[in-house]
Amino acid sequence: MRTIYSPDHARHHGQSELIDGKLQPCFEKPERAFLVKARIEERGIGPVEPPRSFGLEPLRRVHRPDFVAFLETAWTEWTAQRGAYDALPLVWPVPGMRRVLPETIDGKLGYYSIDAGTPITAGTWQAIRASADVALTGAALIASGEERAAFSLCRPPGHHAGSDFFGGYCYFNNAAVAAQHLRDAGAARVAILDVDYHHGNGTQEIFYDRADVLLVNIHADPRQEYPHFLGHADETGAGLGEGYNLNLPLRWGTGWPLWSEALETGCQKVAGFAPDALVVSLGVDTFKDDPISQFCLESHHFPLIGQRIARLGLPTLFVMEGGYAVAEIGVNAVGVLEGYLGG
Ligand SMILES: [Zn+2]
Repeated sequence: MRTIYSPDHARHHGQSELIDGKLQPCFEKPERAFLVKARIEERGIGPVEPPRSFGLEPLRRVHRPDFVAFLETAWTEWTAQRGAYDALPLVWPVPGMRRVLPETIDGKLGYYSIDAGTPITAGTWQAIRASADVALTGAALIASGEERAAFSLCRPPGHHAGSDFFGGYCYFNNAAVAAQHLRDAGAARVAILDVDYHHGNGTQEIFYDRADVLLVNIHADPRQEYPHFLGHADETGAGLGEGYNLNLPLRWGTGWPLWSEALETGCQKVAGFAPDALVVSLGVDTFKDDPISQFCLESHHFPLIGQRIARLGLPTLFVMEGGYAVAEIGVNAVGVLEGYLGG
């Protein structure tokens, strides 16, 4: 299996995020991708190749053009108005306020974001462009029929980013960009299976009213866990998209028996949709020792995830999302791929 990877991810290296009432070192750091790539090479999964450049147009297919433009200029605006240190938002337009685009960078950061855990740094723009190109290059390999499966080793991750907001360590929604590219390249139906610990709220927001992209999410119950305000079981899609969004929220402490039941339910939903291609939002923060998560999967479970996905028999693009138990992130992410290849 080919892995697409760009070293430009390391240009995004946030200093701190607001978590647990404190500014702490970012959990989402370059080491994550270094370790996954090292594990790919150690296990001989296949070649590691650089992405092609796709420009901004594929990003504008799922993100609002003004949001794309904001991310391009945010660091410049921030340094001009504040200084050469990481930007974090601090106020948001909750219901009851008005969402009118402010002129200053503090206001814009709140307008286009959902949390204070997602810094914009000097190299963020280059890194998020590269991460989207990594996803698109993998999608193009699948779309052309050149490969039956591929791994887009994206960093930063993407599934919390919506059509016009960043957050949850995510800026561009790599999986959504890839799914849309597959559609534009001729796939009539695309399914996205999001197995990250957290709900993929951005992906849901982007495709919620569409019947051509099925989204299945297996995640921690938003009543307990980030992103808190989306991901409930009764969110099933809207308009034409009614019935094409399946949320499978699980309580803190969930281990393999319940989690794998949800995976089975999700895979049967995908199979019933009979898509032309599958995008897997591959987060491995379901691991028992993940520092920001509360599920209990063990390393030997991750190949079983890959095996079940393989039984769907679909052209499959794996897109890297979360996973923060850094010592094990490579073992667990590559474990899924090895299960897929061996299953
Ligand atoms: Zn996550």
